[in-house]
Amino acid sequence: MMAENMAEKKLRGSGGYAIAAVTDQEQKMANLGGPELFLAGIGRLAADRFVKYFCNKCERDFEGAPALNYENPNEDLGEGVTLVEKGEYKCRACNSTIAQYRKFDAPAQTHEPAPQPVPEAKPASQPATKAPAAVSADGFVSIQSLVGMAAYDGEAMLVGKVEEVGLRREGGKAQISLKIAASSGDKEFSWDGISKIGDIILLQAKTAAGKCPSCEAQNDPGSAFCEECGAKMS
Ligand SMILES: [Zn+2]
Ligand SMILES: [Zn+2]
Repeated sequence: MMAENMAEKKLRGSGGYAIAAVTDQEQKMANLGGPELFLAGIGRLAADRFVKYFCNKCERDFEGAPALNYENPNEDLGEGVTLVEKGEYKCRACNSTIAQYRKFDAPAQTHEPAPQPVPEAKPASQPATKAPAAVSADGFVSIQSLVGMAAYDGEAMLVGKVEEVGLRREGGKAQISLKIAASSGDKEFSWDGISKIGDIILLQAKTAAGKCPSCEAQNDPGSAFCEECGAKMS
């Protein structure tokens, strides 16, 4: 009973990847802004959707789906955001993590109810009358919409609210930088540290250079793969 419009796609995780049949909608969810698709953007997928998966640690692929453990903590993270589900895909052979995901239930805030297919927005000739979505269909991010958003780290902990968005110059390059008001004082995150923007902002788990996103082992900054678990570092 496969729905129509499914396509087999490569979905990356922190410790490997999976090949799975996904709908157009899921494909959009898996697109976190780059050329690759991420399992974390989709979350839970039925086992029969998976064709195979690749484990970085085992350095081989396996037929079928990785193991999936998930829980529904319905944890109130503050700011009206609820952690609805967190799950982890694991290698059936070595039990290392293939991918993790977090599902949040964020309040509608000033946004319209999310599923409202807006016709492909042409460059607006008139000022918009409602708050724009943070990320439009073509991947354009409205900087204004980021201010006031709640930002969470990779462990689903609330970091704080975005206070300011600016540019920080390093050498000859300017990098977009977010100032976040955290309980421990203001923190600054560069654009590279953002893994997802939606109704909330997710910051990458990996904050320190050389820290493995999968097992958190400290590696030489710039390492391509983790010494400890073999996960890809970037
Ligand atoms: Zn494995
Ligand atoms: Zn590691």
